[in-house]
Amino acid sequence: MSSDCIFCSIVAGTIPAKRVYEDQLCLCFADANPQAPTHLLIVPKAHIASLAHAEEAHAPLLGHLMAKAAELARGAGLEHGYRVVINTGPDGGQTVDHLHLHLLGGRHMGWPPG
Ligand code: 5GP
Ligand code: ZN
Repeated sequence: MSSDCIFCSIVAGTIPAKRVYEDQLCLCFADANPQAPTHLLIVPKAHIASLAHAEEAHAPLLGHLMAKAAELARGAGLEHGYRVVINTGPDGGQTVDHLHLHLLGGRHMGWPPG
C-alpha cells in the first residue's frame, strides 16, 4: 500500500467509493466522473503504479483483473459490448498512478480514442 495513493486509500476504506465487487486480489468501484452509463474501475489491492510496472510475475493477477472485467460486464448487462481501457503513463492519459482497468459500456464507443 502506498500512503499517498487515492486508490490504495479506497481499497483501505479511508476514502469512500461506491464499491461494486471485491475479492482477495481486486476491488471494483464506480468511477467518480463517469464517461459512460456504466463506468467501473477495477484495481488490484496491491499497489502497482501502472501497467508499465507489470512483470511476468504479475501475469496471474492481470489475468484475474481481465476475467473480472468480463464477469462484471456480464453482471452489468453489457451484452452489446463494452470497452476495457488501461491508460498508462503521461502519454496514455493516466492520472492516478495505481494500475486500473476502466470498464466502460452502455453507449457506442468511437475509434480511435482521443
Ligand atoms: P486514469 O485517468 O488514471 O486512467 O483514470 C483515473 C480515473 O479515476 C478517472 O476516470 C477518475 O474519474 C477516477 N477517479 C479519480 N479519483 C477518484 C476517486 O477519488 N474516486 C473514484 N471513485 N474515482 C476517482
Ligand atoms: Zn495505490
